[in-house]
Amino acid sequence: MSLSKDLKNFPAYAPPPEGHVSHSRLERVLRAGKFAVTSELNPPDSADPADVFEAARPLAEIADAINATDASGANCHMSSIGISALLTRAGYSTVYQISCRDRNRIAIQGDVLGAAAMGVSNVLCLTGDGVGAGDQPGAKPVFDFDSVSLLRTIRTMRDEGVFLSGRKITRPPHLFLGAAENPCIPPYEWRPERLAKKVEAGAEFIQTNYIYDLPLFERFMARVRDLGLDKKVFILAGVGPLASARAARWMRSNVPGIHVPDALIDRLEKAPDQGAEGKRICVEIIQQIREIAGVSGVHVMAYRREHLVSEIIAESGVLAGRSPRRTRS
Ligand SMILES: Cc1cc2nc3c(=O)[nH]c(=O)nc-3n(C[C@H](O)[C@H](O)[C@H](O)COP(=O)(O)OP(=O)(O)OC[C@H]3O[C@@H](n4cnc5c(N)ncnc54)[C@H](O)[C@@H]3O)c2cc1C
Repeated sequence: MSLSKDLKNFPAYAPPPEGHVSHSRLERVLRAGKFAVTSELNPPDSADPADVFEAARPLAEIADAINATDASGANCHMSSIGISALLTRAGYSTVYQISCRDRNRIAIQGDVLGAAAMGVSNVLCLTGDGVGAGDQPGAKPVFDFDSVSLLRTIRTMRDEGVFLSGRKITRPPHLFLGAAENPCIPPYEWRPERLAKKVEAGAEFIQTNYIYDLPLFERFMARVRDLGLDKKVFILAGVGPLASARAARWMRSNVPGIHVPDALIDRLEKAPDQGAEGKRICVEIIQQIREIAGVSGVHVMAYRREHLVSEIIAESGVLAGRSPRRTRS
């Protein structure tokens, strides 16, 4: 088989469009000023690609990109690079998440080139949850990088065409770089400053943790605007449907980075159908978030409630008739 035949499924070879750093659909949507939607895929505990495609299908209807998490909560699942590769080859747009917990700089830089070669266009750079949070607390934590040094390293690989060592990369990766943020947990004043560091290190988009406390998020965004960060980075606010008052209380106590106000828990408790109420709250939060200056989109995380994601986005009206479709990149 000729080399050109081998390469026909890898269109990321051409230079990115003018004013873009990558071939990413998400980057195109955001730079065009459209309200973007991304969604997180719950990774299977399986080696079956069908499990990945089954989980991706409902998200692909509404998402400009699907996030492949990297052992979130320090629990082992199918790898983010495996999921990103499968989805990208099948024509879906993905966000490849990298946590610094499990791999050192040699492994991560190699994975970044491998992912880009497979057509991955978006990377979310995370320090990552500590091993103590997961089901294998005896695992050895690596943390050779943190989110900021990881961003800086991948930006150097992309823009200067060299590894951290200075050795040349013959074809640099075209990647749209992202990072995470936790706007609703203390220390509140420090969160926008941390965001500024990530932007300075190369973050072009941010996906936040779940927002359930709008006044706290508005305060965070006001500071973000004061610092001029909303002009430098696209911010996608994290949202998701709460299953019940009990689940909300559990998340508040056990999942780092999430604050669920008492008023929301009361509202769920009093509802005849708590699941339906959780979905309604999520739609309302999306509609209110959309009105906050400096917010460019939402990132929907619906653990074990993926079937609700397309209804939530449709009911929120944020796509305004737009229909994200299966595309490469
Ligand atoms: C959208 C999203 C996706 C995620 N996906 C994953 C995933 O796939 N895998 C995974 O393992 N985790 C994941 N997480 C969890 C994430 O790693 C933690 O929420 C983390 O605390 C915040 O993001 P970060 O990794 O960029 O941390 P950073 O902002 O880099 O911070 C790392 C930790 O150190 C603390 N810290 C650093 N410097 C200081 C300082 N000067 N003072 C006080 N505290 C400091 C921060 O509060 C934080 O707890 C995700 C989070 C979000 C919001």
